[in-house]
Amino acid sequence: ARRNVLITGCSSGIGLALAVKMAKDEQKRFKVYATMRNLAKKEPLEEAAGHRLGKTLEIKQLDVCDEQSIKTCVNSIPDRRIDVLVSNAGMGLIGPIECQTIDEMKTVMDTNFFGLVRLLKEILPDMKRRKSGHIVIISSVMGIQGILFNDVYAASKFAVEGFCESLAIQALKFKLQLSLIEPGPVVTEFERKVFEDGMKMDLSAADEETAEMFTNIYLKNYKQIFQSLGQSAEDVAEIILAENPPFRHQTNTLYTPMTTLKYADPNGDLPIDIFYKMVFQHDKIFSASLNFIKLLRWRSRKSFDLGKPSQ
Ligand code: NAD
Repeated sequence: ARRNVLITGCSSGIGLALAVKMAKDEQKRFKVYATMRNLAKKEPLEEAAGHRLGKTLEIKQLDVCDEQSIKTCVNSIPDRRIDVLVSNAGMGLIGPIECQTIDEMKTVMDTNFFGLVRLLKEILPDMKRRKSGHIVIISSVMGIQGILFNDVYAASKFAVEGFCESLAIQALKFKLQLSLIEPGPVVTEFERKVFEDGMKMDLSAADEETAEMFTNIYLKNYKQIFQSLGQSAEDVAEIILAENPPFRHQTNTLYTPMTTLKYADPNGDLPIDIFYKMVFQHDKIFSASLNFIKLLRWRSRKSFDLGKPSQ
């Protein structure tokens, strides 16, 4: 039988790519409910889905910040049966915290963290009753490691990771599978929106040194990071589809040397020290580090063969 898949945030990026890939599955294993907050933005998905639209892919409205919209969407699915839930909707926020309002920060937490909680409150009880289901959560490498000027975004993804790590133990008892997908930089709308918001940011509340750091170091290198390390949404979608994913699944082999630093030093000083040097001992070290990461590529490929399903 076909597995019902519900994906959030399908108007662009990873959600769109994954919805289309699953709808086009050669073995026709999936019926995809591709959801988005604003149906006025459905055209790119409709175009990409082509003749699968109305067959293996249906588009539905769902706002992860609105409990009623989640309920209405789930109720509209035959028997409310969702075999695979992909919690993908999310948003970024960069910049000095002095220049962000608490309301802006709350919107990030509300979308990235409570969005997942709302979905699970609606969908988990059915999965538990059936003792079957797979929950895939698009987290981030920033769910395990903080990055300069991504304080609140990283906090929202850390929240997701802590929540899932706790829930995974219970899920196992109900034979449910939980997997956290941790992409590094992915070239999507996300990257463009976050960069544009950063460029427009009113930095008057920050001291000169902080404002300068954000503009002349962070924003200046932002595009380069995505250009040299960025994956495509399609690449990430391909990896999500790997069978039997482990609990934590990093998608970007170019980025794994950075996250490995975290596990190399239980005291936590090593990654902070390396990030500090990369950022403040400036361009030379920064580009040297990018080259270093590229050199490590073949090694990380060897030790983290993400293309191969793990057992
Ligand atoms: P994207 O901006 O193209 O996609 C995010 C989608 O979420 C958008 O379609 C947006 O409309 C939707 N969304 C936002 N708020 C919503 C809400 N309240 N209800 C429903 N949908 C909502 O960016 P993307 O890169 O495809 O992001 C997908 C996920 O991947 C996010 O969770 C993001 O945090 C994560 N991620 C992205 C990157 C990256 O570099 N792009 C890296 C790591 C993780």
